[in-house]
Amino acid sequence: MKECIFCKIANKEIPATVIYEDNDILVFMDIGPIIKGHALVIPKKHYDPVTETPDEILTRLHLTAKRIAKAQMNGLGADGVNIMQNNGTAAGQEVPHIHIHVIPRFENDGHHWNWNAKTYENFDEMNELAENVRKQI
Ligand code: 5GP
Ligand code: ZN
Repeated sequence: MKECIFCKIANKEIPATVIYEDNDILVFMDIGPIIKGHALVIPKKHYDPVTETPDEILTRLHLTAKRIAKAQMNGLGADGVNIMQNNGTAAGQEVPHIHIHVIPRFENDGHHWNWNAKTYENFDEMNELAENVRKQI
């Protein structure tokens, strides 16, 4: 993908602070960290969104995210880690090249997700939505 910023990073056409790489995977520091140390795990080849990403690549991305989480805990003293992956602008995705956010978290780091839990009208409403998804699996 010619105009994809993460393809350019993967191809070393624009610089990034790389933490880890192998033949297929690149991990680098997010330029706009939610918490300092925030890293992004990407495939070097362009895939997007998660539903179009081959299972083998997706597995490797997630296993790498796990390794980075451990390295953030051991290397940065993180007390916890958020692992996130956005798909589509409706979900807050800005760069359309699959990437996993690995965000180190510290007790009292001051960041709070706007996790605004809703309620269902009743169990029928929840069951109907569950059935619509269940049928597609
Ligand atoms: P998204 O919202 O697509 O899940 O996340 C995109 C992430 O990529 C953001 O956290 C943003 O800070 C990061 N980002 C965007 N452009 C660049 C860039 O040129 N270099 C680096 N290192 N990170 C970037
Ligand atoms: Zn790309």
